[in-house]
Amino acid sequence: MTPSQFTGTTQEDREDSRGPSCSARPGWRLVETVCPYCGAGCRLRLRVRGTRLSGVEGGDGPPNHGWLCLKGRLGWDFAHHPDRLTVPLVRKGGLLTETSWAEALDLVAARLSELVRVSGAGAVAGLASGKCTNEENFVFQKLMRAGLGTNNIDQCGRLCHAASVAGLTAAFGAGAMTNSIDELASADLIFIIGANPTVAHPLIAARIEEACSRGARLICADPRSIEIARLADLRLQHLPGTDAALLNAMMHVILEEGLADERFIAGRTENFEAFQAVVRRYPPELAEVVSGVPAAKIREAAVLYAQAPRSSIVYSSGLTQHTTGLANVLSVANLAMLTGNVGRESTGVNPLLGQVNAQGACDMGALPDVFPGYQPVCVPASRERYEAASGCQLPGQPGLTMTEILAAAARGEVKGLFVLGANPALSAPDLKHTTHALRRLEFLVVQDIFLTETAELAHVVLPGASFVEKDGTVTSTERRVQRIRRAVPPAGSARSDLDILLDLADRLGLGPGPGGPDEVMNEIARMVPDYGGLSYRRLDTSPAGIQWPCPTPDHPGTRYLHRYGFSGGRAPFSPVDYQGPAEHPDEDYPLILTTGCVLEHSQTGTMSRRSTGLGGLLQGAGVELNPLLAAEMGVSDGDPVRVVSRRGAVVARAILSLSVGREMVFLPYHFREASANLLTNPAFDPGAKTPELKVAAVRIERLDAATISALAAAGAHEKAPAG
Ligand code: SF4
Repeated sequence: MTPSQFTGTTQEDREDSRGPSCSARPGWRLVETVCPYCGAGCRLRLRVRGTRLSGVEGGDGPPNHGWLCLKGRLGWDFAHHPDRLTVPLVRKGGLLTETSWAEALDLVAARLSELVRVSGAGAVAGLASGKCTNEENFVFQKLMRAGLGTNNIDQCGRLCHAASVAGLTAAFGAGAMTNSIDELASADLIFIIGANPTVAHPLIAARIEEACSRGARLICADPRSIEIARLADLRLQHLPGTDAALLNAMMHVILEEGLADERFIAGRTENFEAFQAVVRRYPPELAEVVSGVPAAKIREAAVLYAQAPRSSIVYSSGLTQHTTGLANVLSVANLAMLTGNVGRESTGVNPLLGQVNAQGACDMGALPDVFPGYQPVCVPASRERYEAASGCQLPGQPGLTMTEILAAAARGEVKGLFVLGANPALSAPDLKHTTHALRRLEFLVVQDIFLTETAELAHVVLPGASFVEKDGTVTSTERRVQRIRRAVPPAGSARSDLDILLDLADRLGLGPGPGGPDEVMNEIARMVPDYGGLSYRRLDTSPAGIQWPCPTPDHPGTRYLHRYGFSGGRAPFSPVDYQGPAEHPDEDYPLILTTGCVLEHSQTGTMSRRSTGLGGLLQGAGVELNPLLAAEMGVSDGDPVRVVSRRGAVVARAILSLSVGREMVFLPYHFREASANLLTNPAFDPGAKTPELKVAAVRIERLDAATISALAAAGAHEKAPAG
């Protein structure tokens, strides 16, 4: 791995961060755990002094091999922030008021049970989280299903990677990254589409850079000119939402040039003829008109990808946050199958998930249509198995997804919502409508570590523990199950999230349940076949964790999937026709807004904006504009401008940048004071139910001098968030 300014890590930083002598300092302890930010799942070693953290080091071995990015290295101290929730809160007389644990938990159990009794189990719903552990997500879904009788359970991954789970399950039989992060360094070609690993997954970007330094070819397809594209042999800057046209044209060329892997297609796939019939309709010249990428470049990309001995596809939410997200994932799966780039080392289809346990939350059944281990709720045999384990009759119809839960809340059909570690009041699209939906709930309970924008609207707030205050496991984007460990006690009278959930489950009649996270993991191992060989005893003696599938205690875990075949036998090709985004620029809204993240922050900023190291680096949202557009409008770098869509408006600083074309603007989604999701389009993918957060039609308004002075006086566009 090479040092890189883009990972925020230099050799000097690394020496400092590793602090070779710290373990020898009297009164200090080192605790092995996992970085709480992105899905890369980097290993952290916490330096602990008494009940306080005093620093971190990068843990050895995969995936980070001692390295940490900016967030991992500087973003840990939010755990001690004075904003931490330390006492349960109950709304009384309109105000959130401190209360006892007993009163808060009794109220949650009583109100949710009453809503079920009066309005039926469909009137309550739960949102779990990729920030919480496997054990917490497992118990949470059990509480909703067995305790309240509803399958209305989902999690924040619905907003980004539901299409990956659905698409990769449909194509290959497993909804997860096919290969491992380390394998990227040995790929001969890496095709990045709709991912910006330099800012979102910097340690994965470092493995890609390592591959490039070894001579691997890099193709980078993204509507923005992203940082890692500087290393690319080929840059394809396609228009947002045109991925399927671009991919179909690449596959058209591969067929035309006779570069398809006929042996793989004949031996391991099905439905090739139907797929081929569609792809033949997409010559690169047509895709050029749709995507804006010259046909010659599309041809070149297709030949490069198909001819490399080991080609690996890397994608992220740039591919999935569309009304066609599921089709896009099926399309990259088609591309890999067409060229035999799946089931081999350093190949595959590799989604980069945004949250530390986004994969685990799905594996644990925090989804409306499947039990833990992706067993469909509507299949009697799998339901009977879970009924036997829980001792309760379980609902047999799939529940509502997060997008549907919020819509049903707005209509008054979902009346009670339990939110565990998620923040839809900032992360969901069309926030005016989302906030209306949350306010309409008769009962909202939020369990979190800070008073998030969602918690501010709650009737009960339960203070949970941060990642350094609890034990558990998380599953990274490469299916690596690792331990997180309690290093310090929870803040104030906050409690471990698992303890809170088990107490609630008991109050809902499920009995006292397992004694701790190790016993929950034993239950997970019994119910989830791919976790069958996992236990705390084993994970505690496997410093780098274990990658699923790991079906038995003597199984070593699995670095890459589908080596010996697909779980369903043959993998089906999916014919995918191009469909454009739901909203197009017009006279009133002539620009395309796309959203994403910045290096310094994560998700809705709940943790990163309260880290002294990260918060000081970048506070306040900026909207990226092409200098040509800015010049036409008379806007200078740093001027506040208003960004307006059909759903709302925000004021943000103009950042003049060549990373966006004249027709586009980019706004990060971390900032409450200029929330990108006030602008985004709630239209969603009909299969994955993921909203189109990557395309909205907007206009930019130049603010007059009086408005700018008034904003400057009020500090309106620079105010830090409260949540
Ligand atoms: Fe943490 Fe992700 Fe950075 Fe690794 S790459 S240190 S997991 S934020």
